[in-house]
Amino acid sequence: MSSRQNVLASGQNVLASGGATRRARIGGKVVRRAPSRQEVERRLLQSGISVERMANAGKKLPTSMQRRKRDAATSVAANRTSFAVDAFSCGAVASCSAHFLSHFHPHAYRGLSRSFDRPIYCSKVTADLANCKLGVQDAHLHRLPLNTVSVVNGVRVVLIDANHCAGASMFLFMVPDGRTILYTGHFRASAAMERNLQLAARRVDVCYMDTTCLPLEKEPPAREDVLRFATRLASSAVARNPRTMLACGYRAPGDEKLCLALAEAVGCRAAMAMENYDTLQLLGTGRARDLVTLDWHATRLHALAITKLSFKGLSAHLRRFSAQYDYLLAFKPVAQWDFTGHSRLSDIQPHISQNVIIYGVPFVDHSSRSELKRFVQWLRPRSLVPVATATTRRSAAASEGILRKWLSDIGTFPVRPTSDP
Ligand SMILES: [Zn+2]
Repeated sequence: MSSRQNVLASGQNVLASGGATRRARIGGKVVRRAPSRQEVERRLLQSGISVERMANAGKKLPTSMQRRKRDAATSVAANRTSFAVDAFSCGAVASCSAHFLSHFHPHAYRGLSRSFDRPIYCSKVTADLANCKLGVQDAHLHRLPLNTVSVVNGVRVVLIDANHCAGASMFLFMVPDGRTILYTGHFRASAAMERNLQLAARRVDVCYMDTTCLPLEKEPPAREDVLRFATRLASSAVARNPRTMLACGYRAPGDEKLCLALAEAVGCRAAMAMENYDTLQLLGTGRARDLVTLDWHATRLHALAITKLSFKGLSAHLRRFSAQYDYLLAFKPVAQWDFTGHSRLSDIQPHISQNVIIYGVPFVDHSSRSELKRFVQWLRPRSLVPVATATTRRSAAASEGILRKWLSDIGTFPVRPTSDP
């Protein structure tokens, strides 16, 4: 291994740079105090690493693990220019010169609103959604192209498709001090990323990596397999009984893939509420625009809020259309940390009550453990910072152990050629 050894910048280290508690002596006892917001910012500038949820600074933070979860590095400070990524919950921070938004999911944009008046850099789709859905003023939204070097405040940055929801981007920062920093945001690693010329041409010094699914021993299935599974079920159900109604859950951008695949397979449009219809119009694909409708009576396929995908909610929904349909087959996307595991998709058993059938389908937009391993082995970053939206103490420790092993093994992997175009 070279003198620049690969190291895991653990959540604890990141936390120490921004969220550690202060000690004070009160009444003869040493007690811990959370750092002030100013102190956090000062530390961030010193350390070169910014952390999410600085708004929490100054409040009592109950456990180191919870602090770690909150502070898990979702921001990057580049040289002396501070860039914050997905850190809108901190509000407008004086030391931050530019905000980046990786994708349009609530955990990433939380805190962003029409009153936010700092420059925001993101993909076109993400900017359109922020403008339309949150009312963020267009003047503050800077749409950056994919796979092209842009310059923001003297720092070169490249947006790379994150293979997550529509518009989701990874950020590759090339900072003036020579470091290269990759912030994956939520992503599902794929072989296509290894063919990305901008990513392939550089050795990454620090990789902030989405490790949401890393603790799962059972691999989430490929999205293509889930789509095939659901569309086959839907097609055969409709073929058996033309009076079959279909429903699919819609949580956020990304779930439209399931909805649109069902529409194509069954040969109908997907009816949905205006809010979701607007979102799909903004995604920029003709396929999405052509396959959706606001007319609930014009199609058997209905996209519903995930909260409505209960027996009670679906039974009520079916009753409204009882003149056209006898029973309802619903597909409920399951969040990644709820996927406790079936070995095969065919093992999934439906939940049935009277004339409503619900299939929970693990539609996961995060990298599986094997996908992350392949990505790390290919990327060969000098350090890793795991970032997970939801985790437990045990799973976080397990994840760090896995990443340390991968990093220590990097020296045994073949070196891929790098050049700086
Ligand atoms: Zn996401």
